[in-house]
Amino acid sequence: MDLVESAVEALRREWRSGCTGAMTNLIAAYVRRLHMHAATHEAGLTLVQIDTRLAGYRDLPPERRKQELTELAAMLNALRPHLRAAAQPTPPIGKLNEAVAPGRMPQAARPAAETEQRPAVKALPPEAPVTALPRVGAAVAKKLGNLDVKTVGDLLTLGPRRHIDYSRTVKIGTVLGFGPRDEVTVRGEVIDLKEFPGPPARVVIRLADESGWIKVTWFNAFIAKQIAVGDEIAVSGALDAGYGSPAFTSPEWERVGGPALSTGRLTPVYPLTQGLAQKTIRGLTRAALDATLNTVEEFLPEAIRRENNLVPLVAAYEGLHYPSGYAALEAAQRRLAFNDLFLLQLGLIGRKRDRQASGGTAFKINQSLLRRFLGTLPFKLTGAQRRALDEILADLAQPRPMARLLQGDVGSGKTVVAAAAALITVGNGYQVAVMAPTEILAEQHDHNFRGLFAHLADAERPAVALLTGSTRAGDRRELLAAIADQTVKILVGTHALIQESVTFGRLGLSVVDEQHRFGVRQRSVLPGKAAGVQPHVLSMTATPIPRTLNMVLNGDLDVSVIAELPPGRIPIETIRFVGSERNLAYDLVRTEVARGHQAFVICPLVEASEATEAKAAVAEAARLQRDVFPNLRIATLHGRMSGRDKDRIMTAFRDHAYDLLVSTSVIEVGIDVANATVMVVEGADRFGLAQLHQFRGRVGRGGDRSFCLLLADEATPEAEARLEMMVETNDGFALAEKDLELRGPGDFIGTRQSGLPEMSWLDGSFDTRILDQARLSAEALLDADPELRDPDHAALRSRFQLFWVTASPDLPL
Ligand code: ADP
Ligand code: MG
Repeated sequence: MDLVESAVEALRREWRSGCTGAMTNLIAAYVRRLHMHAATHEAGLTLVQIDTRLAGYRDLPPERRKQELTELAAMLNALRPHLRAAAQPTPPIGKLNEAVAPGRMPQAARPAAETEQRPAVKALPPEAPVTALPRVGAAVAKKLGNLDVKTVGDLLTLGPRRHIDYSRTVKIGTVLGFGPRDEVTVRGEVIDLKEFPGPPARVVIRLADESGWIKVTWFNAFIAKQIAVGDEIAVSGALDAGYGSPAFTSPEWERVGGPALSTGRLTPVYPLTQGLAQKTIRGLTRAALDATLNTVEEFLPEAIRRENNLVPLVAAYEGLHYPSGYAALEAAQRRLAFNDLFLLQLGLIGRKRDRQASGGTAFKINQSLLRRFLGTLPFKLTGAQRRALDEILADLAQPRPMARLLQGDVGSGKTVVAAAAALITVGNGYQVAVMAPTEILAEQHDHNFRGLFAHLADAERPAVALLTGSTRAGDRRELLAAIADQTVKILVGTHALIQESVTFGRLGLSVVDEQHRFGVRQRSVLPGKAAGVQPHVLSMTATPIPRTLNMVLNGDLDVSVIAELPPGRIPIETIRFVGSERNLAYDLVRTEVARGHQAFVICPLVEASEATEAKAAVAEAARLQRDVFPNLRIATLHGRMSGRDKDRIMTAFRDHAYDLLVSTSVIEVGIDVANATVMVVEGADRFGLAQLHQFRGRVGRGGDRSFCLLLADEATPEAEARLEMMVETNDGFALAEKDLELRGPGDFIGTRQSGLPEMSWLDGSFDTRILDQARLSAEALLDADPELRDPDHAALRSRFQLFWVTASPDLPL
C-alpha cells in the first residue's frame, strides 16, 4: 500500500465507523507525511487544503461528513500524478542523502560495494499493520495479535519484561575464571558439530577462538540445520555448573556480523506467546525500529524535553528494546513514562479547567429533608460516610459542576451516600442518572435505591426507574417519555444505554458506579447529557487507590474517601494453601456447596493476553468438572465474552443456576451474590494485592461466614510477602499502598483496567517525581497555549488527540 492508498483507506474506515471523527488524526498523519512527497507547488497547496478541511471535519454536522469524506478521497486520488514516485515507497533508511541528491533515483539498486550492517529497510509509519514488515504473514500476525500487537507501532511499545545482561564478552580461554551461573558471551568458530538423535535429540558443537574452545549443547535437532562447521557465531548464556570444564547448555546464539540482538548485549526478554520464540520477537522489534526510524514523529516540544532531561522519542524506542547499557534503558523508560503521564495530565488538567470555567447549578441543601431521610434508615451513617456526604453537598451548593470521586472499600456504604445526594438533587427539581458498568449491577442499584427510599413519605419519595437492554419496546417508549417529561426522577441503567439513548428533561446529577471500569478517558463523555448546563458528576469506586496515584488517574476529580467499614461486619477468613494442600481447598468448596452456598474460582493471570487467558479459564472449568467436582454445576466467565453473555452468566449464577463460577479476573466488578461464601484464587502469587482484595470482596456479602482461599504453588519471597499481607489484613487502603510499593502502579493503571494502552510498562520506572514533572510541564504548556493551537505544538496536538480519542471521541479539546 502506498501512502495515498493508506490515507484513502483511513477515510474509508472513518466512513465505516459512522463518521465519528475517530480516524481524523490518522488521516491527518498520512496527509502530513505526503507533504514531503509533493512534486509541485500546487500539490503542496492541495495538501494544505486537505489538512485544513480535516481540521474542520469534526465541526461539520454529521450529515455533511460522508460527502466531505468522498471529496477528500477524490482530492487525494487526483494528487497521485503530482507526487514524486520516490514517495512510494519511501527511501530506505540510511540512504536519505542519496535519495534527495540530484540526478539519482531514490529507489536505485544499492551499489554492490555497500558494506552496511543491516539490509536496506522499507520505511513504514507506526500505524502500518505488522504484516507490512518483511516475513510477517498472517500466521505470525495472529500470534502477535495474542500479545495485542497489531501495528508496527505496537511493536515499538511492546516493552520487554526484562533484559538479561549478556554484555560481558570474554575470551573462551578465560571462562574458567567465571563462576557457575555467570552470564557471559563468547565469540568463535564452530570447529565441530555432532548430532545425537536422542531422545532427547541434541546437537553438540565445539566453539573455538584463539584462546581455547568450549562445548555447547542444544536440545534441539533443528540447530544442526542452522549452524555448520566453519561458521562464526556468538553464544550467550549462563555457564554450566557441571563437573569438569565449563560448558554452555541451550544458550542464546547468533551469527557474528549480523545485528546483535540476542548476544553480547543487554538482551530483551519479551512476554511470550505460544509459537513465537524470543528470537523471532527480537527480529520483529528490530525490524520495526528500523522501519520507523524516520517516520516516528517527535511530539514533545524541544523546551519540555530539555527541561525534563528526556531523550528523543526515537532514541527512547531504541533504548527500550536494545539499550547500550542500563543507563540508556532507564533513560528510555523515563521518556516513555513521561510521554503517557504528560499526555494524561494534559487531558486531565484541561478537562478540570474547562469544567471550572463552565456553569453549573447551585442546589439548595434541604437539611430537614436530609434528616428525615437518614432517620428512616435502619443504621446510623459512619463518621466517614458523613464526611463524604458533607463534601458532596458542599459541591452541590456551588454554581460549578461537581466532579468528585467517592472511594470506599467494598461494603463501606457508598450507595446510601449517593442516594442522599440524589434525594437533594430531586428536591431541587432536577433528575439523576445512575450508571453502572453492567446490567446486573444496574439492577442491583435499582433495587438498593428503592429500598433506601422505601420509608420516606410518599410525597418525598423520588420515582426510580430502571432501563436495561431487556426493557421491552413498549415500556421503553413510555419510560423515555417519562424521563423527558420529568415524571421519572432517578433513572438507573448501564452507562452505554443511558449515554446513547436517553434525553433527560432536566438532569442535575450523574452518579457513575465503578468508574475505573470505564477508563480515565471515557469519563470525559459522561457529563454532556444535559441541555445547556453541566450536571454534577459523582463517581464511585471500590478500588482503593493510593493518594499519589489518584493524581495520575483522577487528576481532574476531587476525591472523597470512606476509609471505614460499618460496625459489626464478619471479617472474611483468608487462608493460604500451598501445593498439594489444594485438595483441602477443594474440600472446603464441597462442604460449602453442600450447605447450599456457592463459590468462585479465579484462574491464574496469564500475562500474554485476554485471549489466552480466556482459553485457560475454559480449560480450568473443564478440568474441575471432570476431575474435581463432577457433581457440581459449573459456569465459566471470561473477558472474551460479550457484555451481554457475561451478564447472562452472572445473572444465572446469582439466581443459583450454578454452584461454581470459574472466572478470569473480569469478575472483579462489584457484584453482589449474597449466597457466595468461598472465593478460590488460583495462582494467587501472580496477582497484586489490590486485585486480590477485590476478589475477596466478592464474598461475605450475605452475612454468612465466608472464606478467601489463596492457592499458589511456589511463590517468590515477594509474592509470599503479599499473600501474608492478605491473610493479615482486610484493609483495602493499606493493601493498596503496600501494592504500589511492592509492584509499581501497573495494577492500577494497567492496560486492561484503565484503557491506557501504553502504560503497563510504567512499573519499572514509575516514580512520583516524573509525575510531578509531567504535571508541572502540562500546566505550564496549557497556561501558554490552552488549546494547543501553536504551530509548534501541531505534532503534540495530534499525538494528544490520538492518545485520548481512541476511547473517547468527544474530548473537548
Ligand atoms: P458499597 O460501598 O460496596 O457500595 P453498599 O453501599 O452496597 O457498599 O453497602 C453495603 C451494605 O452496608 C448495604 O447493605 C448497606 O445497607 C449497609 N450499610 C451502609 N451504611 C451502613 C452503616 N452506616 N451502618 C450499617 N450498615 C450500613
Ligand atoms: Mg456498591
